[in-house]
Amino acid sequence: CGIVGYLGSRPAAPILLEGLHRLEYRGYDSAGIALPHRGRLRVTKAAVRVAELRALVGEDQPAVVGIGHTRWATHGEPNDANAHPHTDATGRVAVVHNGIIENAGQLRARLAATGVEFVSDTDTEALAHLIAARLAEEQGSLEDAVRSTLREVEGAYGIVVLDARNPGELVVARNGSPIVLGIGDGEMFIASDLAALVRHTQRVVYLDDGELATLRADDYRTSTLQARRTDKTPTEVELTE
Ligand code: GLU
Repeated sequence: CGIVGYLGSRPAAPILLEGLHRLEYRGYDSAGIALPHRGRLRVTKAAVRVAELRALVGEDQPAVVGIGHTRWATHGEPNDANAHPHTDATGRVAVVHNGIIENAGQLRARLAATGVEFVSDTDTEALAHLIAARLAEEQGSLEDAVRSTLREVEGAYGIVVLDARNPGELVVARNGSPIVLGIGDGEMFIASDLAALVRHTQRVVYLDDGELATLRADDYRTSTLQARRTDKTPTEVELTE
């Protein structure tokens, strides 16, 4: 339902929580955030309001990168386990996802056959396992792992992916579910809705369907799922909060 992401030099948690709060008007049944911590993930998620999530996250979160989500369930009932972010079994890769993966049943069955144990009923969890498996197998970039995973995915999505072992970047992709990047001064914002980022920056880049982006704090690059570079100039939005 709602997606936020942050990558910069300020603590990410308060920015993510405030962004999720801005998206509350869209409605949701659960919420969560993932932050990297010493090469692992710290995930806080539950079938609660954003105000309660804030209390669960606590004050002392130094991470300067993170992702967050408000969920509107399509696969699996609204509960803590089905709340996003979803992770792989090693606790390395976290994914937030808006939309519906149409071939989730098939992907889950294939993963289960290789010994993956699912901890949620969502379509989204399969993405985290697939991306982590690609990273482990190919030793390539997170972007390559996301790209090759998405080539196997049918359906609608806006996703943000965090690798706790490489917290200097975030990978974002869109197909049928809006994603906007907010370009700050040495920091990047991601949201499914402008409302969650206009208080931070008015320089934005809208991802197109079939497009993917890798963000660093002071840089971004966009490409298609077929790995063709797309050079996008930020637009200035008039909208303020
Ligand atoms: N299909 C996903 C789920 O049910 C994402 C739903 C959403 O867009 O919030 O968990």
